[in-house]
Amino acid sequence: MEYDLLIKNGRVVDGSGMPSFHGDVGVKAGKIVERGKLSGNAKRVIDADGLVVAPGFVDNHCHYDAQVTWDSLCTFSCYHGATTVIIGNCSLSLAPVRPGSQDRLAEFLSYVEAIPMDVLRTVDFSWETVPQYMDSLESRLGVNVGTLVGHSAVRHYVMGDECQGRPATGDEIEAMQDIVREAINAGALGLSISKNMGHTDPQGVLVPAVHATEAEIFALGGVLRELGTGIIQGGGGRAAETKNRLMSRLSEATGRQVVYNNLGQTARNPNGWKELMAIIDETSQAGIRAYPLCSPLSNASRFTMRNCQLFRGIPSWFPILRAEDDEKLQAYRDPQVRQKLHAEAVDWSEDTPDTNLARNWYDYMWVDEWVDEWVDEPVLEKNQGFAGKTINELAQMQGKGIIDAFLDLVVEENLDTGFKHGNNNVDREAVAQILNYPNAIVGLSDGGAHVQFQGGYGYSTHLLGYWVREQQIMSLEQAVRRLTFESATTFGIYDRGLLHPGMAADITIFDPDTVSPTNEEVVHDFPKGAWRIRTLAEGIKCTIVNGEVLIEDGEHTGALPGKVMRNALYHANQD
Ligand SMILES: [Zn+2]
Repeated sequence: MEYDLLIKNGRVVDGSGMPSFHGDVGVKAGKIVERGKLSGNAKRVIDADGLVVAPGFVDNHCHYDAQVTWDSLCTFSCYHGATTVIIGNCSLSLAPVRPGSQDRLAEFLSYVEAIPMDVLRTVDFSWETVPQYMDSLESRLGVNVGTLVGHSAVRHYVMGDECQGRPATGDEIEAMQDIVREAINAGALGLSISKNMGHTDPQGVLVPAVHATEAEIFALGGVLRELGTGIIQGGGGRAAETKNRLMSRLSEATGRQVVYNNLGQTARNPNGWKELMAIIDETSQAGIRAYPLCSPLSNASRFTMRNCQLFRGIPSWFPILRAEDDEKLQAYRDPQVRQKLHAEAVDWSEDTPDTNLARNWYDYMWVDEWVDEWVDEPVLEKNQGFAGKTINELAQMQGKGIIDAFLDLVVEENLDTGFKHGNNNVDREAVAQILNYPNAIVGLSDGGAHVQFQGGYGYSTHLLGYWVREQQIMSLEQAVRRLTFESATTFGIYDRGLLHPGMAADITIFDPDTVSPTNEEVVHDFPKGAWRIRTLAEGIKCTIVNGEVLIEDGEHTGALPGKVMRNALYHANQD
């Protein structure tokens, strides 16, 4: 047999969860031909001695919808072994879009997912419909990209500015169904909806999808049932599922797989993950496919009080966060403002609406130790001793109240102090159980989102390095299965996620002894020189997409082998 690519002497972990073995993997015409001891010539041979040969990872929850238009690699997911990324999540796709409404649609994505609007204004919207958007990506992709139809985009397209104010009429719902039908027929992987009560536009109004009635959501989901394909993704699904089983009812009514955000441990609600698991145990036993995503990361965010999002849910804080920097400083100096912030965010004595903030957030927010790596202006020399301390510790050290200690530092350093906050997945035992829970899907990188706060696409290398190698919470075979086969299957990508003959040759080769994400750093590589946080990976030898090497030893080879991932119905209709 003549191969295009022969990967020799690796430890083959094939994505099924079955025991790994020592051997070769042969590739021809973009597909896996065989595994085993293979002889025969190949155009290219890669020696994988000491390395793991696995299916390419499927980065199942991303927001690269805009970025993919200028960055065909969707950096930096593929540097961490991802060969496929899924975009259009949380109702926030960039299609369909009416001419003239592009900025408004981009604003939703910008504000919820923290991608600077100056960057999004550079996007060349050459499409109107979802099929046109998918076609515009085809043939210039480094990685494979699957997209969901975003309910917010659909609602805005049909209802215009009224999409955030009222229920849709029957005609409008039918018009939305037509758009979803057209998109699914063109191969979109599914529909994304949102029940996230924290996802607002810059004016503080919930994004369009959240305004939909249940009847509207079920009507759109019904299109997937009618076509018999596609998946439904639910932003903010955990609260909705806990409240009235919306996610599992939607799955039951449509017969489609539902995935939602998220199963995780959080200091905000320490036992919430167990309560959600009990619900899922019940629904999955009843044969319903409604599963949460979960993340191996604790998702600490880095920020300054120039770009902070953390306190958006606090009524008196929200307008300050949106004000100009000099107005922020003025407010933070004002004793009356401080008193209000203290009442709302420390005493919780006001009627503060449900926020994403833990009541004791000051125990999970630190003065950042790595600040020199990413903040333009270094902090004052005399305050260096505060690095690594929580806000609570800062207050105790100085005998001040929480808000005074925090804002004194912020004002003194002219908003430039770097902070780190994370209260999710901080309980190791809990996270180990969650990552091993069969009714959850591992992923949730948010790649392409929160670009100045975190590099969540490092979830895969973190799972393999920290949780598998160091903590040994699961076998390598199981971890690879979670990163590959499970996500591919969930999203209806039936020809990837396994190193089996006939499957597309999406392959990741990595060193199990060194694989891990590297430290975060700041790079100015976005349009208009805008900055973002970058996290690269150690130990990823090659990322191979459709049989072509895309990334080798951390460098892009120049190849653009990616394809738009289309659903099973689309492929069946092609044959
Ligand atoms: Zn999302």
